[in-house]
Amino acid sequence: MLPYGRQSIDESDIEAVTEVLRGEFLTTGPAVAAFESELSRHTGGVPCVAVTSGTAALHVAYAAAGVGAGDEVVTSPLTFVATAATAALLGATVRFADVQPDTGNLDPGAAAALVTPRTKAVTAVDYAGHPADYDELRAVADSAGAVLIADSAHSLGAAYKDRPVGSLADLTTFSFFPTKTVTTAEGGAVAAADPACHARAARFRNHGLVREPGEQRDPGHGGWHQEVHAFGLNYRLPDVLCALGISQLRRLPRFSARRTELVARYDALLRDVPGLTTPARRAYVTPNWHLYPVRVHDGRRREVYDRMRAAGIGVQVNYIPAYWHPVFEDLGYRRGLCPEAESYYAEELSLPLFADLTDAQQDHVVETLTAILR
Ligand SMILES: *Cc1c(COP(=O)(O)O)cnc(C)c1O
Repeated sequence: MLPYGRQSIDESDIEAVTEVLRGEFLTTGPAVAAFESELSRHTGGVPCVAVTSGTAALHVAYAAAGVGAGDEVVTSPLTFVATAATAALLGATVRFADVQPDTGNLDPGAAAALVTPRTKAVTAVDYAGHPADYDELRAVADSAGAVLIADSAHSLGAAYKDRPVGSLADLTTFSFFPTKTVTTAEGGAVAAADPACHARAARFRNHGLVREPGEQRDPGHGGWHQEVHAFGLNYRLPDVLCALGISQLRRLPRFSARRTELVARYDALLRDVPGLTTPARRAYVTPNWHLYPVRVHDGRRREVYDRMRAAGIGVQVNYIPAYWHPVFEDLGYRRGLCPEAESYYAEELSLPLFADLTDAQQDHVVETLTAILR
């Protein structure tokens, strides 16, 4: 089955990993800081904290933002469930705001209608790799005294008004799952410009441990002493995987260029196919496409999904509205809450898109899809 997304691994990745395996550190060693510093070259210099997944990154970001019981988090339902689940796990109430019908990104107007004095965070999702409308969302977050968070699991390497993803929100999260633009197998990161926020994120990743004597409550014990001031978890990304990440980041410009090329080919090849809409794009945005989300009209999405799969093409659907998950339904969330996200979901189909996809494979996807729709 041709997958909708997959990693691109070459000999330089394999060498980078084996070099660490032959060395002294498997887990926290020099590759972690090196990876974080390489990553920050893609976030406009905003410092990063490497963690074990994109989900861990969201959990860390919410914790660093101080999200807890009694708080509200406003976010998009057109996302992987982790964007909302991690806030709910911290005790917050998730308020789902609807999306823009064309980009699938959080609609600033819908978010503005939901913020209250209890709103602790507004979390945008750069759906498919197309950055959300950050200037407007910043104003919404500021109006509520809330933190602006970007779930940029899809959009590492993208830019909004010439500002790189990672520098657009107070906290930005990334995922390095194999289908994402660069991979560390499992992995993620949080970018935070504010030093105090960055320090809270780094601490949460490592059990909340305070090692600096100057910051300890009772530092007189000896060199071994460490304290926990706020609970954290073990979300440390191992050296082995950070070495893979460094190697992958070297190829990020090439990955992005190939994804851009493939998207332009899809746009051109699918333009006149009936019953289909290709993804929208704002003029002031440079996306780094993670998904190629088409919309299949006339209620044919399921049929097209089944027939593409039967033909060996692993199309995907991204995403079921987060509040349709029974865990949210049991909390009282009802269908109909965000009509634009629901109609987006009803028509969405993600076509194969990854750096190693060949033109011939892409042509085959297009021909198969066109034959089904004509
Ligand atoms: C992939 C993804 C996540 C979760 O990342 P993992 O690394 O799989 O934990 C969160 N949000 C979005 C939008 C994602 O696509």
